[in-house]
Amino acid sequence: MNALSSGTQVPNHGDVMADRKVSVVAVGAHPDDIEFGCGGTVALHADVGDLVTFIYVSNGERGGNPKERTREAREGAKILGARKTEFLGFPDGAIGDSINVVNRIEKILKTVDADIVYTHTSSERHQDHRDVSHAATSAARTCPALMYFETPSSSNLFCPQYYVDITSTIGRKLEAVRKHLTQKSKRAVRPELVEGQARFRGFDPQFLFAECFEISHLHGQIQAPKLKRAAW
Ligand SMILES: [Zn+2]
Repeated sequence: MNALSSGTQVPNHGDVMADRKVSVVAVGAHPDDIEFGCGGTVALHADVGDLVTFIYVSNGERGGNPKERTREAREGAKILGARKTEFLGFPDGAIGDSINVVNRIEKILKTVDADIVYTHTSSERHQDHRDVSHAATSAARTCPALMYFETPSSSNLFCPQYYVDITSTIGRKLEAVRKHLTQKSKRAVRPELVEGQARFRGFDPQFLFAECFEISHLHGQIQAPKLKRAAW
């Protein structure tokens, strides 16, 4: 069996959600954060028809030409199945967690009627990632589910409780990461290291590849992709 095609449990939202599309939103500080943190998981959501929206709070101008960076992010988002990609344009490196950031995120969450929100863990060494984690937590306070992802700058206080088997979507995750050509000199987002991280995260739950999350809350009929042992 090909390593990238072994069985993966698709998201299961239960009977209550059967008559309605589930709305999934990923919120990242910079282009490439969502791809690294939850790219494989959101692709699983897209595979079962969930409506996926990406929000990038900055355009990443400190890491390259912002026009190129937003184009790369749009291409990556398309590969991962996002139907909508929003750029809020807050200053890279100085996003802050002001009420303006909260309100802008919250407005989009209400517009798409978000069911599940993925964003940065607050256990972060990067100030923008911390700020977006705090702002998105406030913005998503009434959403049924909120999960926190890691990035290469997460601290050792990141403490995941939920592991998702991304064996069927690791290929698309890496393809999306490769779209960020402006970042290829950055060691942390090199595809082979992203793949290595996914292999490492899969070790504990016995998946070939995994992403893992801290759970803020995960209510009732809403479920992120379910845990499943990989067939190896
Ligand atoms: Zn970032």
